Amino acid sequence: MRKQIIIGNWKMFKTNSEAKQFMEKAEKGFKTRPDLIAGVAVSATLLNTVKSSSKNLIVSAQNVHFEQSGAFTGEVSIPMLKDVNVSYALVGHSERREYFNETDTTINKKVKALLAANMTPVLCCGESLETFEKGKTIDFVKSQLVSDFAEVSAEDASKVIVAYEPIWAIGTGKVATPQIAQNVCKAVRDIIADLYDQATADKVVIQYGGSVKPDNVKEIMSQPDIDGALVGGASLEVESFLALLV
Ligand code: PEP
Repeated sequence: MRKQIIIGNWKMFKTNSEAKQFMEKAEKGFKTRPDLIAGVAVSATLLNTVKSSSKNLIVSAQNVHFEQSGAFTGEVSIPMLKDVNVSYALVGHSERREYFNETDTTINKKVKALLAANMTPVLCCGESLETFEKGKTIDFVKSQLVSDFAEVSAEDASKVIVAYEPIWAIGTGKVATPQIAQNVCKAVRDIIADLYDQATADKVVIQYGGSVKPDNVKEIMSQPDIDGALVGGASLEVESFLALLV
């Protein structure tokens, strides 16, 4: 049985004091359930504070480098994340792909490096509005996933969280209909089954992301192939974040 995993992506928001206040309130209000994993993906400067203030919520980095150390100014390594007990990292968010030239080749290296370190990649994929309007969503997502999962074993693949995030729905208020989101998340599962086998695909947690809010999360999450959500804007305020955890 797959768990539900809901992660708030704070993007480039919050100072340490704001993050600490958020975590104190969120931990008080979070009603734990054995079938739900919830938490936040935060900027590198906040990781230590947020991790130290967390009890039941999980903490994720928003990015990581695939090398263990080296001359990579501005980057954060896996040993640095381990040093602050962080074991999740977003990989290949569309904002990283668009503004920081992340390619599926580097994303694949990050996925492999995280898995080798027993960490969990939250692998983001998703198409542009143009690709969506041409009806090429599934072909596009397939090409991303084939590259992103290259040289990853079936056992490791089953530990990856895949976040399907149509770019046209991120931060736009334009949420994909539950049916569109379900169709693509089902296609993601089928692609993983083709790459590996059905048993592996059935273990993979697939999130939908793109303008998820407290008032639409329930319907989205009730789709059979959607196991969770990656949420930007609506995760920034504690009340709204807690209201996502249905
Ligand atoms: C995101 O940042 O991954 C995201 C889905 O943002 P939003 O919920 O604001 O669309």
